[in-house]
Amino acid sequence: MATANTKILKVAIVGAGPGGLAAAILLSRLPFVELSVFEQARELREVGAGISINQNTWRLLQVLGAADSLEEFSKRGDGSVIDVEQRNGLTGELLGRKYQSVDPNTPARSRIERYKLQQALLSRVSPDLIQLRKRLRTIDDSGDDTFLEFEDSSRTGPFHLVVGADGLRSAVRQHAFPDHKIAYTGKVAYRVLIPQEKVAHIPNIPQGSCFWHTPSTHVYTNPLDNGLFEIATRATESEEHGNKVSWGQVVPKSQVVKHYQEYCDTIREVIDAPDEWLEFAMFGGPKLETVISGGRIVLIGDASHPLSGAFGSGAAFAFEDAFTLSSALEYTWNRKLSVAKALEIFDSIRGPHYEKLFAVLDTMAANAKTAAISAKDDSNHRVEQTVSKNWKANETAWIYEHNIVQVWREWVTLNDLKELDLNAGKPTAVKEGSREAFSLPAVPIAA
Ligand SMILES: Cc1cc2nc3c(=O)[nH]c(=O)nc-3n(C[C@H](O)[C@H](O)[C@H](O)COP(=O)(O)OP(=O)(O)OC[C@H]3O[C@@H](n4cnc5c(N)ncnc54)[C@H](O)[C@@H]3O)c2cc1C
Repeated sequence: MATANTKILKVAIVGAGPGGLAAAILLSRLPFVELSVFEQARELREVGAGISINQNTWRLLQVLGAADSLEEFSKRGDGSVIDVEQRNGLTGELLGRKYQSVDPNTPARSRIERYKLQQALLSRVSPDLIQLRKRLRTIDDSGDDTFLEFEDSSRTGPFHLVVGADGLRSAVRQHAFPDHKIAYTGKVAYRVLIPQEKVAHIPNIPQGSCFWHTPSTHVYTNPLDNGLFEIATRATESEEHGNKVSWGQVVPKSQVVKHYQEYCDTIREVIDAPDEWLEFAMFGGPKLETVISGGRIVLIGDASHPLSGAFGSGAAFAFEDAFTLSSALEYTWNRKLSVAKALEIFDSIRGPHYEKLFAVLDTMAANAKTAAISAKDDSNHRVEQTVSKNWKANETAWIYEHNIVQVWREWVTLNDLKELDLNAGKPTAVKEGSREAFSLPAVPIAA
């Protein structure tokens, strides 16, 4: 167990997705950390799909030193570049449109292929840190020390801290919180990237990213930067789809097109364009009360919050977690406080944020239900109601504008003030590890 006298903090990160890689970048900057990363995959590669880079994602990419290589894909524009449109999927009618911000201090939202994000992160991680083909089976923390046990029967450790960044079906979470269960939501995501030529002939195809809504579903279309066209959508599918363990399973187009017959001609043609799709069964579960365990295990990213892929910002949430964790570890280390204390700080900052995210999910589900009840006979009215409540009202803007660096700075200021208050009249214990003692990464948001 790590104590104030421990000279080196041995940290194991399980999982090398966006969360694990971000944690690896940030923790390897801490001079007192000895880091190992374990990943089940044989090689690190991403499925063919797009990922949104929102304002919060950009901010953290800059902290991670991984923004530069992605900057060329951002579409800052001159105020005339469409950021996103909302359309009635039944009629094609435009319901709302937003333009890319021209404010040079606001990073432009963009959409890129997932592998580009992965490459940008990987370029900041020393390759010898990551051990591939290491699928965690369980954790032995029955004694003072913590060991990892893998499917290949190997065992490694001891570690002072285990970071569970092993995604939605986290083995670390399973060990630390065995009663927590995730379940198939009854929905699958169908996604695909195809050459833009395959859809160029379709009338009314939008030039920017667009959500096409019906009362119960939506289709997302987006021309990517490199001649590819992305289509992403969700559909209700039977329990049997939830039993598929494969993430990004190739399925024939016949499985997909049948769900979108009520849509307008443009979308029916778009959905018909790919020969095959990738299917992702969506899982979700309740919010964990805490994501830390025993002062030596912490969950980050999808492992910590099974939000069923909502908000299209899970990578950013994982980055925010990684940033908070590394900042808290640095803070406590500099003050000779325990790792357990760092985890408590992490939990106290991230817990309330996730609480709010889960509340938004509940509100969105309730809005969709109300719209369905109040306007049973008029599909177009239902679409407008749901879109205006869930998509146009800007009630979710705070999610993408969330500035975790600022949140952390404010936490430090408040906490130092509290300690000063408690120690008023006593020797200046706080000054010893005061803010000068640890430096926050510079955050050059300006272009
Ligand atoms: C359909 C869909 C669309 C999405 N769109 C967006 C979007 O537009 N923008 C966005 O920001 N987010 C999006 N997300 C969410 C985003 O993909 C995730 O939130 C993000 O990948 C979470 O990162 P992570 O590192 O926590 O987990 P993961 O990406 O799941 O990575 C976990 C890693 O752990 C490894 N692993 C798992 N189990 C073990 C084990 N036992 N031992 C060792 N290694 C293990 C896995 O192989 C993997 O590499 C979307 C998600 C879905 C499903």
